[in-house]
Amino acid sequence: MGKYKAVIGLEMHCELKSNSKVFSSARNSYNEVPNDNITYLDLALPGTLPVVNKKCVHDALMMSMALNCTQPEYMYFDRKNYYYPDLPKGYQITQMDAPVGINGFVEIECKGEKKKIYIHDIHLEEDAASLDHFYDTTNIDYNRGGVPLLELVTEPCINSPEEAVAFLETMRSIYKYCDVSEADTKKGQIRCDVNVSIMDNDATELGTKVEMKNINSFSNVYDAICYEIKRQSELKEQGRYDEVEQETRRFDEETGTTIRMRSKADALDYKYFVDPNLPKFKIDPEWLEEIRNEIPLLANQRKEKYIKEQGLSDYDAGVIVKEREYAEYFENCIALGIETKTAANWLTTQILGFINKEEISLKDFYLTPTLLKQIIDEIDKGTLSTKLAKEVFYKALEEKKEPKNFISQENAQISDKNELETLINQILEENTHQVEEYKKGKTNLFDFFVGQVMKNTRGKANPVLTKEILKEKLEK
Ligand code: ADP
Ligand code: MG
Repeated sequence: MGKYKAVIGLEMHCELKSNSKVFSSARNSYNEVPNDNITYLDLALPGTLPVVNKKCVHDALMMSMALNCTQPEYMYFDRKNYYYPDLPKGYQITQMDAPVGINGFVEIECKGEKKKIYIHDIHLEEDAASLDHFYDTTNIDYNRGGVPLLELVTEPCINSPEEAVAFLETMRSIYKYCDVSEADTKKGQIRCDVNVSIMDNDATELGTKVEMKNINSFSNVYDAICYEIKRQSELKEQGRYDEVEQETRRFDEETGTTIRMRSKADALDYKYFVDPNLPKFKIDPEWLEEIRNEIPLLANQRKEKYIKEQGLSDYDAGVIVKEREYAEYFENCIALGIETKTAANWLTTQILGFINKEEISLKDFYLTPTLLKQIIDEIDKGTLSTKLAKEVFYKALEEKKEPKNFISQENAQISDKNELETLINQILEENTHQVEEYKKGKTNLFDFFVGQVMKNTRGKANPVLTKEILKEKLEK
């Protein structure tokens, strides 16, 4: 690649969390018995009428503001007309002329560089049913029909597969921080259409774009873009650029290639018009402000704050803001008075290590910040060495008992000055040769003495005190 500039625009669909569907009272949930979450409306039986779900409008407006979009004064829905078995009404309820957000942007970080990705619009619509194809039959599950869906369309301003994935990761994070979607690709909650074209580096006009529909994982988005850039570049290189057509292709996971489905020329005319069954309503500016105030600090804002105000490294801050619950755990630790670096270290190494290994969520992690503090307080007091603290940590997790139960006399750090002095005297007497060498100037033997003390106490001697006493005795 390199010779040509790649231009990419994404259309990202994400299903929203809600109790009921966007226009019907059927449940919006996963892993149910097929065709169990449906009402007459979801089957488009005559005489049924849609009702807008207020929570879905609320969440769509929240996302619109989180993405720095402009919201419409009035909201209404349009019909996008086409027939397919996954759409029994013969039209999809969506937004065409007055989407919930237009002209926004989101900042991404890719290879250490920040970049704004411009959002053309974001609109609220209903998902279609899901089709399960077999050899000679197809099963239709209407559970997904009518599930709230937000579709976001970017401007063609993404220039590499890495940027595309960084954008999708950022979007997923915003959805999760705003708590409006699980944004789980494994559950099929995120699907993308990917538009790719190439152009000469100094060209001013965009090249011919190819669209790849319904890609359901970020790694497939990455692979599809790489393949398309390569395919289009090779054709251009060979003087056959006219063979790059405005068309819809599909990404084939097995071969990692894209395959032509249809030309854009025979694209459907959806005959959009305003859905007369749904009211046009004014968005109350006060309500909008309320929603704006509910938007939490997002990952990139928290990351910046942790670096600037708490002195965390870029790396640690990045790990902590990966999930909102990590960031909240960290902030709760700080609120309890745990030192920032200490909290960051325990979280990013021991705690995340543990929950990843056990495949549990931090929400289900036994040691809350308050319980973790029991351990950290003992380290600060000098009763627990770091090594023993870790043992207490795992013991507490294993038995699901408060750490203080394992901070006993037996495993406590030896911080008693008299006890340590007696022990050190004994060690110095047993190693008279080394003591002489030290006094002659071989001061690097100091670590040898510290090592002997640790060996004798199985690591329990308070290291600060040990060094103090050793210095005193050896220097005199
Ligand atoms: P269409 O009319 O084919 O739906 P749109 O203008 O609505 O095209 O754009 C659809 C998507 O394609 C958007 O994400 C947009 O950013 C992207 N796009 C438009 N032109 C190009 C191009 N030349 N190369 C790559 N992506 C493009
Ligand atoms: Mg379009």
